[in-house]
Amino acid sequence: ANFNDYQLSSEILKAINMLNFNNPTSVQEQVIPAVLEQKDIIVKSQTGSGKTAAFAIPICELVDWDENKPQALVLAPTRELAIQVKEDIFNIGRFKRLKVSAIYGKSPFYIQEKELKQKTHVVVGTPGRIIDHIERGTFDTSKIKYLVIDEADEMLNMGFIEQIETIITRLSKERVTLLLSATMPRDIESLCNKYMKAPISVAI
Ligand code: AMP
Repeated sequence: ANFNDYQLSSEILKAINMLNFNNPTSVQEQVIPAVLEQKDIIVKSQTGSGKTAAFAIPICELVDWDENKPQALVLAPTRELAIQVKEDIFNIGRFKRLKVSAIYGKSPFYIQEKELKQKTHVVVGTPGRIIDHIERGTFDTSKIKYLVIDEADEMLNMGFIEQIETIITRLSKERVTLLLSATMPRDIESLCNKYMKAPISVAI
């Protein structure tokens, strides 16, 4: 396949070119067209497969630049991963001038609060701090249309499953949900069954 096969705007294709991505990886071939069609997807794949761009490309394509409230939320297990994913999404959305925020614990709350008050299209964060912002009213989730649960098995191991459920229940049901995990333990499967709509399963 070729990135030109998808209905991507010139801004996104330009960014893909700048990143020297010549062809979609296997996970991207399966995930990009499905997300563009607003399907829920469970992705079983490892780091190194190109999984981040697999969700970042269609989400950057689909978000509406004119909307001031966040439209996509990516949950990640660690601060390091949140920062990395934020960078990756920023690089794909740069010519569309998308704003991406990273929100994680052990970092000043008020700086994040200021960032969330400004226009931001995509929020990448760790579950605990995301809940703090939702509960204090500093993160308006009313326009979230895309939820990505990245490295779900890592989040399970770190004891974040209840927090993820709390976050999901605060989001509109009119959303697309993507879950990525290297392994599929039973608790992750039941989370998928409970909160995803006829998900497509992709295994790499
Ligand atoms: P990930 O699996 O998301 O951790 O990505 C692994 C690495 O692959 C990252 O450094 C990406 O920049 C790179 N990458 C992602 N998609 C492609 C692609 N289509 N072609 C070449 N490299 C890619």
